[in-house]
Amino acid sequence: MRKFLTLIALFFASVKMLFAISSQAKVEVPGALFNEGAYSHIKEVPEVLFNQNYTLRLDYVFSGDAHHTEISLAKMARLEGWWGRNVNTDRLHLRGNGIITLTDSATRKVLYTNSFSTLFSEWQSTSEALTTRKAFENVFLVPMPAAKAYVTVELIDKSDNLTASFTHLVNPADILIRPITSPYTPDRCRYMHKGGDSRNVIDVAIVGEGYTKEELDIFYRDAKQTTDEILSYEPFKSLADRFNFIAVPVESSESGVSIPLKNEWKQTAFSSHFSTFYSDRYLTTLNLFDLHDALAAVPYEHIIILANTDNYGGGGILNSYVLTAAHNRWAMPVVVHEFGHSFAGLADEYFYDDGTDQYDLTKEPWEQNITTLVNFESKWYDLLSQELETSSENGKGKAKSRERRKNKQPKIGTGDYYGIEVVTKADQALPAYKTLVEADYKVGLYEGGGYLSKGIYRPYPTCRMRDNSYPLFCPVCVRAITRMIEYYTIQ
Ligand SMILES: [Zn+2]
Repeated sequence: MRKFLTLIALFFASVKMLFAISSQAKVEVPGALFNEGAYSHIKEVPEVLFNQNYTLRLDYVFSGDAHHTEISLAKMARLEGWWGRNVNTDRLHLRGNGIITLTDSATRKVLYTNSFSTLFSEWQSTSEALTTRKAFENVFLVPMPAAKAYVTVELIDKSDNLTASFTHLVNPADILIRPITSPYTPDRCRYMHKGGDSRNVIDVAIVGEGYTKEELDIFYRDAKQTTDEILSYEPFKSLADRFNFIAVPVESSESGVSIPLKNEWKQTAFSSHFSTFYSDRYLTTLNLFDLHDALAAVPYEHIIILANTDNYGGGGILNSYVLTAAHNRWAMPVVVHEFGHSFAGLADEYFYDDGTDQYDLTKEPWEQNITTLVNFESKWYDLLSQELETSSENGKGKAKSRERRKNKQPKIGTGDYYGIEVVTKADQALPAYKTLVEADYKVGLYEGGGYLSKGIYRPYPTCRMRDNSYPLFCPVCVRAITRMIEYYTIQ
């Protein structure tokens, strides 16, 4: 995604060196954030509205050009087990750029709904889409309905306009719903972390791309490092018992991934390649059907694809997948950042002076960690305090802040942060590094975020969603991730 591309520029523009430095990290967690104890009180779904023994896999093709969108059903399949949410199934937590909803045909009751983003929508903003029509694969997992049900897929643009909507009826007794499985059965896989029963926790599958059979040990090592890295960040660290990470040892016939710029094309499991949309470092796979075919036998809801390459690149798409190059020095901070996109729907907090128009400044974006101030109260307004609001001006204006708060006119900070050059592990002992981690930053409104230097605000001087040299998520992102985890695991 563009999110990834802009991240690259940040790497090379202002941040010289990046690496994983999270083990010593401490994070300022807003009070009463974790809903202690509630997790142990998860109830069974009170009313059985769907068949918890099966997943309905829906394969679609999204096609069109810059101005037209078509959604078509390609095929349906049945998987053993349902590993998605068993709580809050009938409500969305974030809107996303697309929504899929399963509705009981008789009662019109919503059985399940989820939001997503898609590579197709991003492609529609490229110049190629002005002259070409293209088709993209998309896969969604929903619980198998107990009776006939409607599935509705909707796509929404940055200005909140519905660009396409498609509804079709699913009969769970349809003989053409193919039961499928995969050679990668659980006994061939390894759990990198097991927080609990798959029915109650968030199941993340880590799959290899471009690892040959002889390289699977390298894959397991990379998968373990990835898991450990994500779980070293708050709030994942404190809520690790809500996650499973399973490594699925998918084999590719050739080692590495395709790099079109070098005319290097490899036969790999998911046919991923750099130069997506002609952007050199944009590494994605368009073969979502192949990806989900490989995962059909394991419990999974979220997907992290590790690419066996030291060429730098990757991307993260909400409720679709993370794909990152596993073998370069930035791999670990990047995979955490991208998981912030794909799991929690976080926005990028970085920006450029000549930023893109990926957001409509007359609308409030749905991502929780940026705001256009159109509806700031829906964001982190409640985290602003008298002291916090004035942090960027050395305490000036404290007396006025109470009045500002009362009048709902949050003060806009002018403080900025340009990163720190941390080069080696030894540098972690340097005062500059200590200052970075323990910096007395305050939640506020900092102009610049979502690729734009003006008109969009972020909550904190820096964050994992802004800068890969900063080893923490900011407090607003910590809260957003926490809320997402609770959405999955607490009724
Ligand atoms: Zn943040």
